Order: sequence, then C-alpha cells, then structure tokens
Amino acid sequence: VGDGADFDTETKSVCPFCGVGCQVSLRSKGDRIVAVDGVDGPANEGRLCVKGRFGFDYVHHPHRLTKPLIRREDAPAKGLNVDPGDWGAAFREASWEEALERAAAGLRGRGREVAGFGSAKCSNEEAYLFQRFIREGFGHNNVDHCTRLCHASSVAALLENVGSGAVTATFNEIENADCAIVIGANPVENHPVAATYLKQFAARGGTLIVMDPRGQALARHAAHMLQFRPGADVALLNSVMHVIVEEGLVDRQYVKGFTENWAAQERHLAGFAPERVEGLTGIAPDAVRAVARAFAGARAGMIFWGMGVSQHVHGTDNARCLISLALMCGHVGRPGTGLHPLRGQNNVQGASDAGLIPMFLPDYRSVADPDARGGYAALWGAEVAPEAGLTVTEIMDAVHAGGVRAMYVLGENPAMSDPDLAHARGALAKLDHLVVQDIFLTETANYADVILPASAFYEKAGTVTNTNRQVQMGRPAVPPPGEAREDWRVIRDLANACGLGWTYEHPREVFAEMAGMMPSLANITWERLEREGAVTYPSLTPEDPGQPIVFGDGFPREGGRARFAPADVVPPDELPDAEYPMVLTTGRQLEHWHTGSMTRRASVLDAVEPEANCSLHPSTLRRLGVEAGGMVTLETRRGAVTLMARADRAVAPDMVFLPFAYVEAAANLLTNPALDPYGKIPEFKFAAVRAFAAKGA
Ligand code: SF4
Repeated sequence: VGDGADFDTETKSVCPFCGVGCQVSLRSKGDRIVAVDGVDGPANEGRLCVKGRFGFDYVHHPHRLTKPLIRREDAPAKGLNVDPGDWGAAFREASWEEALERAAAGLRGRGREVAGFGSAKCSNEEAYLFQRFIREGFGHNNVDHCTRLCHASSVAALLENVGSGAVTATFNEIENADCAIVIGANPVENHPVAATYLKQFAARGGTLIVMDPRGQALARHAAHMLQFRPGADVALLNSVMHVIVEEGLVDRQYVKGFTENWAAQERHLAGFAPERVEGLTGIAPDAVRAVARAFAGARAGMIFWGMGVSQHVHGTDNARCLISLALMCGHVGRPGTGLHPLRGQNNVQGASDAGLIPMFLPDYRSVADPDARGGYAALWGAEVAPEAGLTVTEIMDAVHAGGVRAMYVLGENPAMSDPDLAHARGALAKLDHLVVQDIFLTETANYADVILPASAFYEKAGTVTNTNRQVQMGRPAVPPPGEAREDWRVIRDLANACGLGWTYEHPREVFAEMAGMMPSLANITWERLEREGAVTYPSLTPEDPGQPIVFGDGFPREGGRARFAPADVVPPDELPDAEYPMVLTTGRQLEHWHTGSMTRRASVLDAVEPEANCSLHPSTLRRLGVEAGGMVTLETRRGAVTLMARADRAVAPDMVFLPFAYVEAAANLLTNPALDPYGKIPEFKFAAVRAFAAKGA
C-alpha cells in the first residue's frame, strides 16, 4: 500500500465495509488504486478507520476472478477443496456467453426448486434487481440475504412497535444528547468512526452507559459499565425499566400522547425488581438503579445496539425491551434522542429497503398485501406470490429436505457465515446447480457449478444506504479486472438468459424504477445523488437534505402510536452443562470484515491480524494449562476448531470470544442454528462449548 502521493485521478465513493458509510476519496493511477483518504461525508466528516484507509488493495489481489468459470466434468467432489489461487483441477475458463447459458440452463423453469441469496455488500440497484429476478423469474419469494444473520430481529421489533425498521435518529445526533446507552455492540471495533462520536460525547460530559457481557474499549469512556451474564438481556432491561416505574421517572405525558399498551407493560415490569433478577443478570441492584436514573432523568437520551442484542433466540424480545425503554422515557423523535441499531454491512439498510427479504417487497410492503403485489405485478408484468418465502437458514434446511435444488448466490458466503457450517456446507454440496457471482473464489464458490466474476465496490457505480438512512453515491475509480463485470449487468444478463427480457442499460434506470415505487426514496434522484453525494431519507422536498430525526409527531402505525411489547425471559437455546461448561460467543475484530474474503486479502490488515485467534480470560487459560499465544481447541456439539488463544480480561472466565473471519478455524462450525421465532436469526451469540489445550501444542 503506497502513500498515495503519486496519483492521476481522484474519485469520491463510499467505504465498502461497515454500515457507518464513510465517504472516501480514492486516488488511482492507471487501473490501480494507490491510496484512500476520508472526505467530508455526512456520517464521517473526513474520518476513516483502519479498514477504510488501508484495507483497499484486495481489489488488486491476484486471486481476483477475471473470467467466468465452469466446473469440470472430472472435478473433485464438491467440498472445501479448491485453492482460490489454483482452481484448474476443479474449474475451466469459459466465455461469458457459455457461462451465462450454463448458469441459466440450471435455473430456467425450475420454480420453487430455485432460491437466491443476495448480499448487503451489493448496491441498492443490484439488491433490487436480484429480488426482482427471483420473484419475477421463479414466481416465489425464496430470496434473502445476510440481514437475516445480523439485525432481522431488530427490524422485526421495530416494524412491530414503531412501524419502521430503520433508525429513528442518525448516530451523529449524539451531539445533542446528554445520555446514551450502547448495548450488545462494540463500536470501537465494528463501527469505529461512529465510536469516535461516542467518545467525543463522553469527553464533553455526556453520560455514556455500556452494557455488554464482554468488556470493551468504549467502557473506558463510560460512566457506567454493566457487564451482565450472557443471555440475560431481557431480565436486565426489564429491571432497568422496573426502577424507572418504581421511582416515578416515566415520561407519562409522552406515554399518554404517543404510545399504546402501557398498562400491560407496567404490569409486566412489576416482577423485575433488580434484586429478584440479580442472580440471572449478575448485576448489583445499585448499578441497575444508577443506570435507570441516568437514562430516564436525561434531557435527551439515545440507545445504540448491535448484534449482541439481535443474535439470540430472544433477539426480538431484546429489541422490544430497548424500544420500550426509549418510549417510557420519551427519548424518541427529538434532537439527541432515538433508537439506533448500528447496521453491520455497508448496504444492509439499503438491501433490506430494496426488498431483498422473503416476506417483504421494497419498503417493507408485505408480500401478503394485494395492493403491494398488484403494483409490482403491473410494473414487472408478472404475478408476485402472496406467501412469504424461505429465509437464509430455512433455505439450507429445504436443500437437505430436497425442496430447493438450485441456488444463485451473489456476494454472500454461506459456507462461512451460516450457523452450523457442517449443515450449511452439506446443503451446498447437495445442490444440483449452484451459481456464484463474486470477486473471489470464496468458500461458497468451492461448491459452485458456474462462477461469474463480479466487480468490487470501487469498480462500479451504485447507491448504498448506511445505518443513518443516508443514501450515498458510489462511483467507480478503476475498471473491473480482466473480463469481470459490474454486478447489475450480470444479474440483467442472467435474467435475460432465463427469458425475462430486461432492457436496463445503466443503474440509474434501476434507481429511477425503485424511486418510482418506494416512498422512502421520494425526492431522491440519481442526478441529485451524483450532485450532492448523499441524501438522508425521508427527504421532504427536492431540496431537503433529509430528516436526521423521525417520528417527532407520531409513528407510521395505525393510530399513529408506538406500542409497548412486554417481553419475558426466554433462556438461551443451549445452556452450558457438565460436558460443555462454557459459553461461546462470536463476533468481529477491527481489522477483519465478516468472512474475511476481502480483508484477509488486504495486505495491511492481514499483516496486523494474520492468524485465527480466540480470547479467553487469563484465569481460564491458566486452568486449561495454555499459555497466552498457545493453541487451544474449542468444541461444541456441532464441531471443533483449534486456534491461537489470547489472554483477555474483558472476557468473563466462563466465556470464549471467537471471531468468525478465519476459514482455518471457522467459528460457525461451532455455532447453534436455533432461531429467534420472529426475526428467524440464529443464536450466534450463545452456545455451550468446552475448551482444552490442543493436542501436541
Ligand atoms: Fe469504513 Fe466503517 Fe471504517 Fe468508516 S468506520 S472507514 S465505513 S469500515
């Protein structure tokens, strides 16, 4: 990675990693990006983290796919046996014409036997085209993406109780808050630029409250750190709300004017005195009381949460509690107040908005709604099925059951990201036709019949929507390598090879079609985004830069009121026992992004964090007889991995933290596929595990 002093072109775009959506300036020389700098975007104001600033040279990695590939007749059996740099024994190069025809031949006319995984790393236009392809082309809604694995439960709770799945306020609104809760999130590692705003908030005297079963760097800036027992979120949050009621701190005027179902919520909270649930939460009642007073007594409070909240069998209940907590304090709809699930991928908000989910058409219009279906049927010239489709993990189950036999996977890596990987990889191996469109020969592409070489985000034009509801313009700085193509074009060509007759010639035409159907995009045009770079939705006029705070005058629910949804304690699906006595929790590290396909090929990031690792408390390592830096084996009922162990006092003595970016010790071989019943999200944050010194270590 050079210093970027020698460049001939500068292009503004958006960082391709997390949902913060930092705007970047890409400096390129010829066909190569040589440096990245931050620019003054609405979310980052010139700031970048290490991934955004130094994690770009994966774009030019020699493993990039540059030609379509077709599986050889005599290829080894499908499995994780293809080296991404040496795939000749498994695949042969093909022309685009042959590859598209081969891909289409295995999909055409197969109706419900086909399912599609799109990606939150795609642009809005690509996400829209992908869901349209599956819905129009195959007559069902079996199309989903990785939102199912991150915030599906948050979205379920928000839609149910607030009427909208997006944030009610941008994270930058913290500038106007005097108290903020960060729960089940580690923004210093996972949303680093957003974390800088949180630290500044604390530095100027704001009361920062961090709640998490694992310690973290942000706790150093917090007035209160509640390190509660894993899985005890609902008990803890209900006890905070109990104190707010008990001490007369409820904003009764707000509750009366803007909400419903308060009486049931108040009754429900009576059973959650902090003393009663201390055994469950591990948090002293005085600490709960202090947090309740700080948040309810604040003039303006915000709540931020991440996947520590959502990735549980009770993830929707966790989010319901957070919504109730904000509502009872009147901390919604004003400057410095709001609910903010920190979205993970760069375009998970936009891909969800665009309908890349099995139960919703764009803008969360239910597939069961005849008006919504009718609108798209008229536009597309094809009926939309009224039944919700299968979710990510349900699709894998359906493959094992024989119902789904062909898949189209765009930019997603379920062979690494799904829970219980032996099950997921078994499903991929069982498919009789798999089309993978990606920039690298990922673990999932190992199982493909046809691989279509795609474009990195810095190689194409397209819009993305960040965690703040800011729709931003991505611009190409360099062309895709070799014969690789922009993703929107590949989807169009495959759709046409399947007989759909699409005529799009540029993503701006796709955006115009979306904006014509999606009220959230009212007053936002491609031309405006090219000019302004970003517009926050909702934008009330063609000049309005957008509304950072919503729901000041009511909620988009029938009657205009938000709803309290009392939540009871549901234990984790798999509790520790004598055989598997510890708790496994998974997550990300600062330097690596999700399944590692990009960041492990970014030279600086890989140099900083090159090796699979997990973290245990020093006392646990002593008990196991493992030195810090030594090798440890982690085993659950589903699998085992052996990897380097780090000593980390932030991890409780009965827990293990395991990042999921490393194929050589894939965390999801171990995770529990049990689902939250509403969001259908797997319980990545809790599994019973045993740890022991690796044999021969
Ligand atoms: Fe990219 Fe997120 Fe880092 Fe910003 S905070 S530079 S969007 S990874």
